[in-house]
Amino acid sequence: MYGGLESVVDSYHGILAGLLNMAAALGLVAALCMRRPSVQEGVLALAAQPWVSALTIVLFACILSVIHVRINSQSMKNTKAYLQDHTGMELRLSYLLDRVAGSFNAAKVVRIYDMKDMLMGNITKYNQQSKEFYGGMCDMTRTKNFVSGRANSFFVVCSYLFVAVKVLAGAVSVGSFTQYVGALTKLSGGFGQYSWFNDRLSQIITYMGDFLELMGRENCHAGGSIPVEKRLDGEYEIEFKDVSFHYPGSQDMILEHVNCRLDMKNKLALVGKNGAGKTTFVKLLCRLYEPTDGVITLNGIDIRRYREEEYRELFGVVFQDFKLFSFPLWQNLAAGYARDEKKIWENLEKAGAGEFVKGLPQGIDTLLFKDKEGGVDVSGGEAQKLALARALYKDAPFVVLDEPTAALDPISEAQVYESFHEMVRDKTSIYISHRMSSCRFCDDIVVFDDGKIVERGSHEELLAAGGCYAGMWNAQAKYYTEDCAGE
Ligand code: ADP
Repeated sequence: MYGGLESVVDSYHGILAGLLNMAAALGLVAALCMRRPSVQEGVLALAAQPWVSALTIVLFACILSVIHVRINSQSMKNTKAYLQDHTGMELRLSYLLDRVAGSFNAAKVVRIYDMKDMLMGNITKYNQQSKEFYGGMCDMTRTKNFVSGRANSFFVVCSYLFVAVKVLAGAVSVGSFTQYVGALTKLSGGFGQYSWFNDRLSQIITYMGDFLELMGRENCHAGGSIPVEKRLDGEYEIEFKDVSFHYPGSQDMILEHVNCRLDMKNKLALVGKNGAGKTTFVKLLCRLYEPTDGVITLNGIDIRRYREEEYRELFGVVFQDFKLFSFPLWQNLAAGYARDEKKIWENLEKAGAGEFVKGLPQGIDTLLFKDKEGGVDVSGGEAQKLALARALYKDAPFVVLDEPTAALDPISEAQVYESFHEMVRDKTSIYISHRMSSCRFCDDIVVFDDGKIVERGSHEELLAAGGCYAGMWNAQAKYYTEDCAGE
C-alpha cells in the first residue's frame, strides 16, 4: 500500500533529478557571486562583494537544509509512532469487517445471540479511530508541506533581493536580472525536489523497515538436505526420542519427555483429555514445529536433516480444524497433485462421499461454497468426508486422522470404521479420537495426560490395567448400557 520497489526507484530518480537541477543552477549562481561591484564604497559595495555573496548563499542553503532536515526527521518520527499505534487497531477492524461481518458462517451466531449492536458498536469505534488516524496523517503532511513551502518562498524573495543588490551595485546588468533570479530559483527548486523525494524515500523505508527486518532474520527452521528415500514397501519407522516441546512465545511445556516409536504399518490410536498434547504430537510428527528438546527420527536419522518438502510427502493428515477451499471439489481433493478422476472417485467412495458428490450439479467439478457464484455449501459431515478423501488421495505412507468422524452421523461413522482397515492398508496410521469404541480398531493405543505418555498397550491390556484409559472407556461405555437410563 505504501510504496514498494517502484516507488523506491521513482524516489531515487527524483533525488537524482533534483541534484542535477542544483548542479546546473550552481554554475550560474557561482558566476553571479564572483561578479565584482562597479561602485567602490558604501553598504551596496560591501554587500555585493564576491565573498559576502558566497557567504550569503551558503548561509541561506544551510538554513534551508536545517529546516528540511528538522521537518523530515520529525515527520518520520511521527509517522513511525502513528503506524505503531495504529496497526493493532487496523487488524481488529479488518478482522471485524472481513472475518465476522463478511463471514457467512458467523451470520448464524450473530443472529441467534443478538450480536448486531455489539459488532456495530465496535466497528463504529474502530472506524472512528481509523478516521482520526488518517486525519492525523493528513494534518502532519499538511503542516510539513506548509513549513517547507514557506521556507522555499522565503528563499525566492531573498533571491530577488540578492540579485537586486548585485544589479544596484553594478556587478551585473539589469538585463541579466531575470537570468540570475531564475538560476537561484532553480537552485532552490532543485533542492526542494531533492528533499521532497528524499522525504518520500525515508517514509517508504519507515514502512518497509519491519518487512526488511523480518526478511533479514536468520531462518531458525532447519532446512535439511538429505533426500527421503522413496519406498514402495512403506518401510518407514519414526521414533520420538525424549521429545519435549513448548510453542514459540510461551514457556509452558506442552509435551514432556515423550518417547514413542511408530511401528510400521500399525494402527496407532492417541487418546487423552482435551489439551493433553495429542494434536501437538501430530504437528511435531509432520514437522510443522520442531522439538524444543529431544529428537524425532525417521529410519534412525533426525528428521530435521531431511529435505522438508520430501519429508512432508510422507503424511496424509486430516486435522481437526481441516480446511476446504472455495475451489472446484476436485482441486480440494487433489490439492497439489495431478487430477486423476478414477483415483478421485475411488477415494470419495472410500471416505463415504461418493453418493453425495454424484448428486452435485457438476460432480467433482462443482465449485465449493457459496461465497463464489455458482458454488454449493456442504454440511459439516460432508466436508469432513471430503477432507478424509483428500488425505487418502495423497496415498502417503502415513495417514493421520484427528477426530475424523466427529461431524459424521452414526451410519456414516460406522461406514468409516468398517472401511478403516481398507483405507489404511499397507500404511502406518495414527488415529486421534475421543470415541473410545473407535480405538478398538487400533493395534496399539497411546494415552496422553498433561503432555506425557502415561499408558501404552492394546485395548484389552489397557482395560485390564484399570488406569486412565479404562477410566475414559468406562465413562463413555456407561451411556451405552441400560444402567444409564435410570441415572
Ligand atoms: P489435544 O489435541 O490433546 O486436545 P493440543 O495438542 O491441541 O491438545 O493442545 C495442547 C496444549 O497446547 C493446549 O493447552 C493448547 O492450548 C496449547 N496450544 C495448542 N496450539 C497452540 C499454539 N499454536 N500456541 C500456543 N499454545 C497452543
